[in-house]
Amino acid sequence: MQWNILGHETAIRFLKNHAIPGKTRHAYLITGPEGVGRETLALAFAKALNCQNPPEKGEFCGVCLACRQIDEQRYPDLLILRVNEGSKDLKIDQIREMQQKLALAPYQSPYRMVLIPDFQRATIGASNALLKSLEEPPSKALLILTADARECLLETIASRCEVLRLRPSSVETLERYLVDEKGIAANRAKRLAHLTGGRVGTALSYDQTQDLLDAYDDALTDLGDLLNSRLRERLQFVEKLQKGKGSSREQIAFLIATWLTFWRDVMIRREGADIPLVNIEHEGRVNETAQLIPSRQIKKMLKDHEKALVNLDANLNPRLVIENLILTLPLLQVA
Ligand SMILES: [Zn+2]
Repeated sequence: MQWNILGHETAIRFLKNHAIPGKTRHAYLITGPEGVGRETLALAFAKALNCQNPPEKGEFCGVCLACRQIDEQRYPDLLILRVNEGSKDLKIDQIREMQQKLALAPYQSPYRMVLIPDFQRATIGASNALLKSLEEPPSKALLILTADARECLLETIASRCEVLRLRPSSVETLERYLVDEKGIAANRAKRLAHLTGGRVGTALSYDQTQDLLDAYDDALTDLGDLLNSRLRERLQFVEKLQKGKGSSREQIAFLIATWLTFWRDVMIRREGADIPLVNIEHEGRVNETAQLIPSRQIKKMLKDHEKALVNLDANLNPRLVIENLILTLPLLQVA
């Protein structure tokens, strides 16, 4: 059986070689944007290291007890250390507790493995604590970190890991994969591939949540309406948002992040760049807006939306943030 993963051929070849006894290192760092398949790759590597019935060197069977337990994330020698629910950061106590386990002998595997997804969320204290495990790893220890980018981590950590950098697939490749391998209808596959910019994990999770695609459409419809509304209607929109369910920080962040993808698309069309649109379903409106607004103003919109997201993150009042943003939107035409 092949690793059965879309793309990432170089990384897979690399890890297959490292899954052979004697070739395995103590620490790996898999980087790439969220939803690109970092964790899937890490788990495949764990299977290749532990499969009881490998069909070939560096491969795994996918059906033995070890393979199944790793898939279900309940393999006794694999600890997956995540940020605690409700918390933003990975804490130093979690790292210390993990280190005590890491020092024990494995139950059945050649390794005591720890996977830490999203290590960019570790506090400085947690990062420094982890350094110890990287500088003097217990003999059977194997650490796999994932992160958005190498630059998000202390260089002293990254430099002690084998670093594998993952990129999204092309939109066309993902679209074909979703149709051929996942049986998703062609139209939907096209939309998911564009919306996620070729990130397979995100596409599959969007496919499972119809509400999310609807929310995306609603957000873009709202923006279209606002661009054609004068001040009074815009303020009414903010008012309505405040009373409705859409008033939480997360929901407003979603709204603004979605609008940002629209402005990026508008910029792509305005500049005639050969880059696939994110909102392929709204291509007509994207083209129309690109014709009506000069580049300078589109750039300002991009900046304003990015700044609004930063402000939300910095705990500014969500209502003020969205109100400010809406008032700076250009007025296209009033029907
Ligand atoms: Zn197996």
